[in-house]
Amino acid sequence: MANDTNKFQAIISHCKEYGFIFPSSEIYDGLSAVYDYGQNGSELKKNIRDYWWKWMTQLHDNIVGIDAAIFMHPTTWKASGHVDNFSDPMIDNKDSKKRYRVDHLIEAFADTLPKEAGEAILQQMDQLLAKEDFAGLKKLIEDNKMKCSVSGTCNWTDVRQFNLMFSTEFGSVSGDEGENMVYLRPETAQGIFVNFLNVQKTGRMKIPFGIAQVGKAFRNEIVARQFIFRMREFEQMEMQFFIRPGTQKQWYEYWKEERMKWHLSLGISPEQYRFHDHVKLAHYADAACDIEYNFPIGFKEVEGIHSRTDFDLRNHQEFSKKKMQYFDAETDENGKPYGNYIPYVIETSIGLDRSVMMVLSEAYEEQDLSTAEKQDSRVLLKFPPKLAPVKLAILPLVKKDGLPEIARQLMDECRASFRCFYEEKDAIGKRYRRQDAIGTPFCVTIDHQTKEDGMVTIRYRDSMEQERILLKDVKELVEKAIQ
Ligand code: ATP
Repeated sequence: MANDTNKFQAIISHCKEYGFIFPSSEIYDGLSAVYDYGQNGSELKKNIRDYWWKWMTQLHDNIVGIDAAIFMHPTTWKASGHVDNFSDPMIDNKDSKKRYRVDHLIEAFADTLPKEAGEAILQQMDQLLAKEDFAGLKKLIEDNKMKCSVSGTCNWTDVRQFNLMFSTEFGSVSGDEGENMVYLRPETAQGIFVNFLNVQKTGRMKIPFGIAQVGKAFRNEIVARQFIFRMREFEQMEMQFFIRPGTQKQWYEYWKEERMKWHLSLGISPEQYRFHDHVKLAHYADAACDIEYNFPIGFKEVEGIHSRTDFDLRNHQEFSKKKMQYFDAETDENGKPYGNYIPYVIETSIGLDRSVMMVLSEAYEEQDLSTAEKQDSRVLLKFPPKLAPVKLAILPLVKKDGLPEIARQLMDECRASFRCFYEEKDAIGKRYRRQDAIGTPFCVTIDHQTKEDGMVTIRYRDSMEQERILLKDVKELVEKAIQ
């Protein structure tokens, strides 16, 4: 079995080889920290997204979903604090006046060094970035005599903050500077906050209630060398739960527990998770923690749970001059109506791509199947059946004697209910291995005997065990397994 760093690399290669994840625009050498999902990866991602959506909206009281636009009014990001607070370090060359992202400058320099020396510099950079040690970053640049590509000098300003939001021009004609500028949203949450009253009123929602959303978010990330763990375009699955002020502690604990249940319901063992409570809180939070998963690169955040107080709604009220209040007709223990207030919010925010990475890390296994007679091995993805891209492979043993027809009939019976894959080429062993590699939980082989007794061989991915079952029972067996 590969060690953990190798396992991470092995997963990346496997993802590419089996149509899960490709570097974006690869024919042009890719685009840093941007990835495309292939035929199997997009199915896996969709299954995780659907599972989260169903679990949050359908299986909880009083949570509904929305789908807000990526573009939002630019004032949204002033109100949310992103214009002022969402930033990373940069540096200017005093002679050429050219501005560099600190990480880009150091990365370009590291590329000119022998591999090991380059990696050492990058490691130092990552540590300094993590500590937000700007003086240390400047010193690293100066000590290594990193030069500006335009002036050729090492005459640098201090390191300063750089906003992580991407901006673009809105409309067909560009106006005065900044006039038509919009941001690509760096989180989906704000689309929920600005629609809080629309949903509450039209849905006649009563507090406590939640609004869920899944969608793309964009961040011009500074450390971006960790496959789909840290991307510049990624997907978030977020839920804002609106509550009475003063009840935040209890709901925060509730959602911590509830979200952990979701993770465990993926069949992942509790030892693979831990909570990490934030000591240094963001400007909007009165409590926050991460759910960390034990990735092959170590325990890292996959989800954040934040008690966001009334920060966002209050600021939107102030910036928009529109009331963001809720009228609570219920009474407290003294019989006094709660009346009007700005609700408090508990947020659960999980990265979809990081969830894909988590599910892949959990599922990936290299097995040595060698016997005294011959060497053998296989790579399999042990996805929970409900998340597997393909649920059932239908394999006629040979391409003749009416076997493909029976197989096609089974395919027609099943394909509306779940995703099936039909294949009649190559030896059956080879076909099984290909299905193991994409994580298909069930393979069914149709042979000559099927014509006599209406039975097929079903082969289970994880145990590789095989048994004969009735052809007419196949669909139900798979349906039960993917519920
Ligand atoms: P990190 O500390 O890793 O940068 P964060 O605390 O900034 O993450 P949040 O703003 O809380 O992240 O976003 C919620 C979730 O969105 C994270 O838990 C993570 O799963 C996901 N996420 C955030 N940034 C990225 C990214 N650049 N690429 C992929 N997923 C991301």
